[in-house]
Amino acid sequence: STPLIASPARTQAIINRYGLAIKKSLGQNFLTDINILEHIVQAADLSPQDNVIEIGPGIGALTEFLAQNSHQVLAFEIDDQLIPVLSETLSQYDNVTVLNQDILKANLGEVIAEHFEPGRPLKLVANLPYYITTPILMNVLQSGISFDAITVMMQKEVADRLVAVPGTKAYGSLSIAVQYQTNAAVSFMVPRTAFIPQPNVDSAIVTMTKREPLAVLPFDERVFAKFVKGSFMHRRKSFWNNLLAMFGKDPDVKTRLTAVLERVQISPQIRSEKLRLEQFIELVNELHADGL
Ligand code: SAM
Repeated sequence: STPLIASPARTQAIINRYGLAIKKSLGQNFLTDINILEHIVQAADLSPQDNVIEIGPGIGALTEFLAQNSHQVLAFEIDDQLIPVLSETLSQYDNVTVLNQDILKANLGEVIAEHFEPGRPLKLVANLPYYITTPILMNVLQSGISFDAITVMMQKEVADRLVAVPGTKAYGSLSIAVQYQTNAAVSFMVPRTAFIPQPNVDSAIVTMTKREPLAVLPFDERVFAKFVKGSFMHRRKSFWNNLLAMFGKDPDVKTRLTAVLERVQISPQIRSEKLRLEQFIELVNELHADGL
């Protein structure tokens, strides 16, 4: 059915009617392009069975499309001034709940258990606040909540990092954290003109779906995450120098590190950005087996 919120004219009218002060510090860029919103719903592959989590509903442009295409929507909005706006703009939809909460402080698992009946597909769809894209994604991925699909808009450069392959500049610990759990792909780009106000960056929609299980898992996920981060700490240095920065330069430690690298057939002079996910897993397991 026809949207009530998105469109540049309606968005501007809502901003004026409530005298909204748009907060750049909260990453407020409201989507006004109906075409883009339809594409997001398609990319999210929504069905009337789905329970949907949204982060940052703003004035409700995307929320409305989610409400029309899913079973139930639960949205987290940090900005108090938007709560009365949302209850009016979304008043036609009885399947939306807006929580006035900081997503980085929310206990997602608890909130989901409280609001959603179990057994339905669970999806996350959002036009993210760009200033906290990485912490939001890391929290979501580490929450242990099993999302059937995550479809989120972010700054293009961050999207590039999520989907980056080994040997490229964008490849790093974020790529590995995301690809460890999901199949991530860029669905499409979104121009600045699709928002009010326009952001200073280009945007992309990324879809993340459950990945096929890995053949070998790290002995401990936290240690693995720390090890990957440490490997990319000094990007201009070799993998070896990053290893020494993590494990110390004690001669005995050096000898053992060298032996582990030989065993897994990785050259110390390689750059961390050349190492594949499976190699990081193998390395962390071998180092652990060696007591390092
Ligand atoms: N979904 C709307 C749209 O597409 O038009 C708005 C998207 S806007 C890019 C990001 C939204 O996230 C803003 O409404 C902002 O207030 C909200 N936000 C910022 N930080 C947040 C946080 N820590 N927790 C929850 N929402 C947050």
